[in-house]
Amino acid sequence: MGYEFKDGLEFAKQLDKLDKLHHVREYFYLNEGEIYMDGNSLGLSSKEAEKALLNVFNVWRKEAIKIWGVENGRYFNFSKNISEKLKNLINADVDEIIIMGSITTNIHQALATFYKPIKEKCKIIVDELNFPTDIYATKSIIELKGYKVEDVLIEIKSRDGRTISEEDIISKMDDDVALILLPSVLYRSAQLLDMELLTREAHKHGIIIGWDLAHSIGSVPHDFKKIDPDFAVWCSYKYLNAGPGATAGMYINRKHFNKSAGLKGWFGNKDESQFLLSHDFDQDKDANGWLLGTHNMFSMAPLDGVLNIFNEVGIENIRAKSLHITAYLMYLIDNKLSKYGYSIGNPREDHRRGGHICLEHDEAYRISLALRDNKVIPDYREPNVIRLAPVALYVSYEETYHLVEILEKIVRDKEFEKYSLKRVTVL
Ligand SMILES: *Cc1c(COP(=O)(O)O)cnc(C)c1O
Repeated sequence: MGYEFKDGLEFAKQLDKLDKLHHVREYFYLNEGEIYMDGNSLGLSSKEAEKALLNVFNVWRKEAIKIWGVENGRYFNFSKNISEKLKNLINADVDEIIIMGSITTNIHQALATFYKPIKEKCKIIVDELNFPTDIYATKSIIELKGYKVEDVLIEIKSRDGRTISEEDIISKMDDDVALILLPSVLYRSAQLLDMELLTREAHKHGIIIGWDLAHSIGSVPHDFKKIDPDFAVWCSYKYLNAGPGATAGMYINRKHFNKSAGLKGWFGNKDESQFLLSHDFDQDKDANGWLLGTHNMFSMAPLDGVLNIFNEVGIENIRAKSLHITAYLMYLIDNKLSKYGYSIGNPREDHRRGGHICLEHDEAYRISLALRDNKVIPDYREPNVIRLAPVALYVSYEETYHLVEILEKIVRDKEFEKYSLKRVTVL
């Protein structure tokens, strides 16, 4: 909001010159001549991630079992050490964060812990636009607790097929609701929900509320000291750039440290008694009590490495560039592409949008195929959305300008018409 842009390549180049983060793209492995707009699905590799991964391999090669003890237990405490580097992204305390699993497993862990239904308070609120795995995990926990999904699950409907109204969520927060699970940023439309408001309203009704930060962590700063959610989960392979299937993360508010972990494993035991190997679980008294098994070191190491970049650059600077470059992209779409049937599906206000642009077109699917042949990597989401993420750490304004020129050409010259409408897997 309040940004001033001009058309033309020269202006794009000028923006790159003014961009204080421009040099950071050198830390990443970019393919020459390719415009990468899919960092919201899978972030790029970096030299820091590579170095950290190879380093852990070498420590293993040299030390074998001693890996757990070297460097003051750095690797035995790998989750804690990485959490220390990650805590600024969400403004939480290090002992409230653990690095483990995937979003899916961590939702299972969170719901196993926090969903304690009784007859009068057994409902769960989710939204109809959330990513499927969040809903599958939620439904499976409902069934495990002996309830029926149709009796318990409240799916908030979207009014426009793109966004969810905070008001609609709040209107369902009755005293029979036990738990709420929502995404911070919606994966298709990039809507950023008002997390502080929703958390405050949930707590007024004694409802546990947890957030899935998949599309915000590493892109949108969160202030958990202010928001005060009960739990949160996230993955590390989108804006965090830690690699495909990189180990995910979880936040447990310290006010819940006295709760019994829903799922228990030996890494959740207190360090001092873990190797006594007793059959009586002695839960760690902070978020580490929710850890399960042995750290998957090779999926954690790249995260450990790449977080150095986040701490060097600062999440506030990342957000500032992200807002600016996405505003620039919206400006170009409005001015150059609307006559070709393109429109913008994400909210426009800065405080209501995440790090990607939701570009809609009736021919979005075939356009996304043509983009690939033009060396642009977008991603496509049914039925008519091309998601474009000019990731602050490694996408330039010049690339963003070229992207728009290519989008224009594909429709103007009817390039998309040579592609079949038949769907192929994973875009
Ligand atoms: C990407 C994403 C996931 C992926 O879950 P994994 O268990 O990490 O594979 C889950 N939820 C949302 C909202 C996502 O965007």
